[in-house]
Amino acid sequence: MTLTTETATILTGLGVDTNRFTGGTMESFTPLTGERLAELTPDTAATTQEAIARAKAAFTAWRLVPAPRRGELVRLWAEELRAAKADLGRLVSIEAGKIPSEGLGEVQEMIDICDFAVGLSRQIYGLTIATERPGHRMMETWHPLGPVGIISAFNFPVAVWSWNTALALVCGNPVLWKPSEKTPLTAIAAQAVLDRALARFGDAPAHLAQLLIGGPEVGEALVVSPDVPLISATGSTRMGRIVGPKVAARFGRSILELGGNNAGIVCPSADLDMTLRAVAFGAMGTAGQRCTSLRRLFVHDSIYDAFVPRLVKAYASVRVGNPLESDALVGPLIDRAAFEGMQAALNAAATMGGKLHGGERVEVPPGGYYVRPAIVEMTEQVAPMTEETFAPILYVQRYSDFEQAIALQNGVAAGLSSSVFTRDLQEAELFLSAAGSDCGIANVNIGTSGAEIGGAFGGEKETGGGRESGSDAWKGYMRRATNTVNYSRDLPLAQGVVFDI
Ligand code: NAD
Repeated sequence: MTLTTETATILTGLGVDTNRFTGGTMESFTPLTGERLAELTPDTAATTQEAIARAKAAFTAWRLVPAPRRGELVRLWAEELRAAKADLGRLVSIEAGKIPSEGLGEVQEMIDICDFAVGLSRQIYGLTIATERPGHRMMETWHPLGPVGIISAFNFPVAVWSWNTALALVCGNPVLWKPSEKTPLTAIAAQAVLDRALARFGDAPAHLAQLLIGGPEVGEALVVSPDVPLISATGSTRMGRIVGPKVAARFGRSILELGGNNAGIVCPSADLDMTLRAVAFGAMGTAGQRCTSLRRLFVHDSIYDAFVPRLVKAYASVRVGNPLESDALVGPLIDRAAFEGMQAALNAAATMGGKLHGGERVEVPPGGYYVRPAIVEMTEQVAPMTEETFAPILYVQRYSDFEQAIALQNGVAAGLSSSVFTRDLQEAELFLSAAGSDCGIANVNIGTSGAEIGGAFGGEKETGGGRESGSDAWKGYMRRATNTVNYSRDLPLAQGVVFDI
């Protein structure tokens, strides 16, 4: 069976109408072989406007449904996701090129956030605050915000949507999702799974969760709409630079989850066997196409010559290939542009004196862009090391002083994820302190990638400052009202102000 046939079989099995993925002007390809999977009819700015109007109408009803009842919808969604896990995971592999365990892992992440959100639906609460005025009570109430526009990237074609959608739904908001134009089929399948849950739920307002297929112009229509109070946009910093100011110009709210240039520090006391495994997964996993992929490694002088040659050896032997036809751990790059970007970065690094290991195209399965992951030994942190190249390149540099290593780790524009590998308590604590890593994620003795649902996810600086997923990230999807109630017969004014009339 060709991948095209298999994809169509999965989609129809999930109840997707074949008109959704045949006969349109927008194409979808698999990075595994380059095969064209489908032709779709994209949305336009006009159809997006219509969808926004429908979402606005859905909001007036959904915001009044009690939050625990809204949680029931998400509980049903998790059930449907469990049933569809194999199919959806397979589509993630076909359309985004992930190895099977990562394709399934992405769906597991969706299930995990649903479970989290179901619990959250009974824990949406605000503070009661002591007031300075006698006979008064002050409290916070959290209210639904309105339609949430979700713009997502190709490399997590469905999980990022579910992080946003599960929280948005229990918080009382409809969603409008514009997935990456590189992964529309996985999005259509994922939407079909949610539609099943909506059908079982029964009385949700129509158009509570809508899917919009298309490129940046469709995202742009969401971004500029005053009827979409929150835009949650995941993708490159380049995209965030355009989207962020446009949302701000209309005083909308945005959650920006942008690029990373994540680093690890390997200290003299590190467990080198464990560090090797953590670095290998962090840097080569998903073919270096995670926002949290490890891209820079600072290795202490005293262990550099023992550690780096082992890493180079692991890179030379890692299995690269079509993960659906072999036991490869490194699948393809998403497309030709990604391959060219990688080669340009490697050439630039060589010009800056970098010593290159790997990075060449692996021609095994024809059609896809497969590369051997690259290590580049650098003597100083200069471009392209200071920029995110969305490919498996790991820049390695020596350090001698721990505080210098922290300064190097923080010395780039992105601020997403970071790790230190050490058994020295002082180093670990300094790394996690206010004088340590400046990233949204800072880890000790685990890699930079592979975050869990329970924690808030996001990064600082050019990563955009947004937070999604666990902890109290839900507050970003609601509006907060401060309420003061006077149950006395007097009217004492705050700050002792007197205003007798
Ligand atoms: P991209 O920026 O090319 O596209 C992301 C999404 O933004 C797509 O849906 C695209 O259509 C849309 N878009 C692009 N320009 C737009 C515009 N002007 N207006 C509205 N929408 C627009 O990113 P990509 O290549 O799909 O993904 C890779 C990038 O995403 C990397 O930089 C990676 O680090 C980042 N990423 C970040 C996170 C995170 O949580 N921080 C997670 C995944 C990926």
